[in-house]
Amino acid sequence: MLNVNLLKAFDSNYIFMLQCDVTGQRAVVDPGDSEPVLSFLAEDTLHNILITHHHYDHVGGVAKLCDIYNSDVICARCDVHRIPRATTTVVDGDEVMVGASKAKVLRLDGHTIGHIAYYFEQEKMLFCGDTLFSGGCGRLFEGSADNMFNSLVKLKGLPDDVAVYCAHEYTVDNFKFAVSVADGRCYQQALMQAEKVREQGLPTIPTTICYERSHNIFMRAATVEAFAKLRQQKDNF
Ligand SMILES: [Zn+2]
Repeated sequence: MLNVNLLKAFDSNYIFMLQCDVTGQRAVVDPGDSEPVLSFLAEDTLHNILITHHHYDHVGGVAKLCDIYNSDVICARCDVHRIPRATTTVVDGDEVMVGASKAKVLRLDGHTIGHIAYYFEQEKMLFCGDTLFSGGCGRLFEGSADNMFNSLVKLKGLPDDVAVYCAHEYTVDNFKFAVSVADGRCYQQALMQAEKVREQGLPTIPTTICYERSHNIFMRAATVEAFAKLRQQKDNF
């Protein structure tokens, strides 16, 4: 089993601390800031740093953590030139171990080219960076609508009960957008539910593949064209 802790960083980021309960080994996903990780770990050590993509709010803490813990930094092979202190590079389908837990690397172009996710099949956990958000998806900074659409199709194929750890708390905004462009009752309910959770000061993350398949307007887009239109509308929302 893998234990997960959510650490907050910047305005909306989540940094995920993982610990294998068999070996005690620890990993962190996308440490944009080292401070929350350092306070969390205290005297503990950090074996692996898993990176989904090169944006500063995902890698900003890597150098300092490496100085202290000398961790293994895992990233996409094609991103190695822009990930600080990368030590291990991976491609789609590769396996990454966190203690006794095994993650499969999924390449998900769209937000960036070379963006990857870590899918722990046994543990039913997905760490998908800025590709899929609860109720939304990442902006297209480098990839095309076609790239992102295909990445979402890939994620849609995962089992229902996979927990999805998205790197940002954007859920309320995403459902506000969905409500503004579609009158489906599911978006209204999802918005109310997300607002309730946030009012209690709790994260809306993780979500599940099942929930996103039925409540995420971007995942529900039937064609690349429909997806591209939604993404453009959201960019101007
Ligand atoms: Zn990003």
